[in-house]
Amino acid sequence: MPQTPDRNRRIVLASRPTGAPTPANFRLDDGALPVPAQGQVLLRTVYLSLDPYMRGRMSDAPSYTPPFALEEVMGGGTVCRVAASLHPGFQVGDWVAGMTGWQDYALSDGAGLTPLGKLAHPSWALGVLGMPGFTAYVGLLDLGQPKPGDTVVVAGATGAVGAVVGQLAKLRGCTVVGIAGGPAKCRSAVDELGLDACVDHHGEGLRKRLAAACPKGIDVYFENVGGAVFDAVLPLLNVGARVPICGLIAHYNDTALPPGPDRLPWLLSTLLKRRIKLQGFIITDHYATRYRAFAEEMGAWVKDGAVKYREDVVAGLENAPDAFIGLLAGKNFGKLVVRVGED
Ligand code: NDP
Repeated sequence: MPQTPDRNRRIVLASRPTGAPTPANFRLDDGALPVPAQGQVLLRTVYLSLDPYMRGRMSDAPSYTPPFALEEVMGGGTVCRVAASLHPGFQVGDWVAGMTGWQDYALSDGAGLTPLGKLAHPSWALGVLGMPGFTAYVGLLDLGQPKPGDTVVVAGATGAVGAVVGQLAKLRGCTVVGIAGGPAKCRSAVDELGLDACVDHHGEGLRKRLAAACPKGIDVYFENVGGAVFDAVLPLLNVGARVPICGLIAHYNDTALPPGPDRLPWLLSTLLKRRIKLQGFIITDHYATRYRAFAEEMGAWVKDGAVKYREDVVAGLENAPDAFIGLLAGKNFGKLVVRVGED
């Protein structure tokens, strides 16, 4: 059933997943349209962003942010149009970005809404011009500190964050090697994003193939993945390498520590001997200080084509759970968004 002007469809968290999420963890509810009070706006969702962090918030394990509540609407970034306004700052038809979640409509008092003005592609505010692009900008430029001539390796190289990382590293004059899942993504990383090489993490011999693509070792590794990919990268890190730890998607569905010997001594002795700097970061810590610079620079790069952007658009709110499950298995190709309603 498509979005209608009189009902509010919502996808709620029906149960917490053990391991990979399944469709049974989500439920599509249908309720009455919310009515704005004085000082509020009614927002109609046009695009919903699907992001890996949502997997963490479906669990109730302690983390840097609270879990989604059971039976409540799944949270998430959205691009919406104002459908009704009793707020002096917003008019019917305005485009805004907010965190209104997996539903057709939401009320807001304006707090946390970003007016988008007239964007050529409003959904891009959920990707290259929004949180994932900002994550790439801060993680690579501030923490990775790439210098011209450095070899930069980025995992998840065609994803929402990774695709921007690779292109920014090229703009900084680096040799850039992507790691991605499958030949089509690897081809796109080189032909469309302009990376120097891209290594498929599926199949045998990842360590050898990555070593061959990085003959001078690795100066910056942008970690989006963990698991076998990190194991292949670690022996190649140069003295003084920087490793921004952005995400560990290979582990988000883990229910126990992976089998095998304790590799901590191997990791620590490598960090020690090669004076490597690993630094985890959470992007929400950086909005106050760095967002303005990001918005200006990235806006210009996107406008003049220096940074290219690929979206993977899924139609229909009802298809969001399957699309999200697929994201955790590498099925998306580009930034994953759901088109919830018409412009
Ligand atoms: P993507 O658009 O890159 O989508 C996820 C991709 O991860 C998949 O398409 C797949 O790509 C890859 N992947 C999934 N499972 C595995 C696996 N087992 N091994 C290797 N690759 C895998 O997502 P985002 O760009 O939005 O996010 C990338 C990372 O950044 C995530 O880890 C996310 O949690 C993190 N992040 C962190 C933030 C922070 O504040 N620290 C903010 C935003 C994102 P492929 O097919 O190429 O393997």
